[in-house]
Amino acid sequence: MSTADCLFCRIVAGEIPATVVRETPTTLAFRDIDPKAPVHVLVIPKEHYADVATLAGGDPALAGEVLGTAAAVAEDEGLLGDGFRLMFNTGAYGGQEVFHVHAHLLGGAPLGPMLA
Ligand code: 5GP
Ligand code: ZN
Repeated sequence: MSTADCLFCRIVAGEIPATVVRETPTTLAFRDIDPKAPVHVLVIPKEHYADVATLAGGDPALAGEVLGTAAAVAEDEGLLGDGFRLMFNTGAYGGQEVFHVHAHLLGGAPLGPMLA
């Protein structure tokens, strides 16, 4: 997929609005449009990678920056004490719907052992 066709690349480009909670030179964090928890933030690299495996293989430092941004948002949102979930849905079996890698940061309530 080209970046012109990618929803999250279009958010990075400012072509589609999003509620941004943190931005770094290489990453962006914004609220999920359909939150599954009181706090539900998506954390992405600005550069297009399809999924976490491609990102980790192609640019492990950038993968680390995504994790760092997620941790900073978790702190900003007050999640460090009670805990939170950070997950990457990957591929068809993982239920991935947007093929620009994104970490889901979920918290603010007990989440149970797994998401449905
Ligand atoms: P996936 O299933 O690919 O792991 O998650 C994609 C996520 O993107 C879903 O949680 C969905 O609610 C969210 N999403 C889809 N379209 C938009 C959008 O236009 N803006 C925002 N902020 N989130 C979106
Ligand atoms: Zn993209």
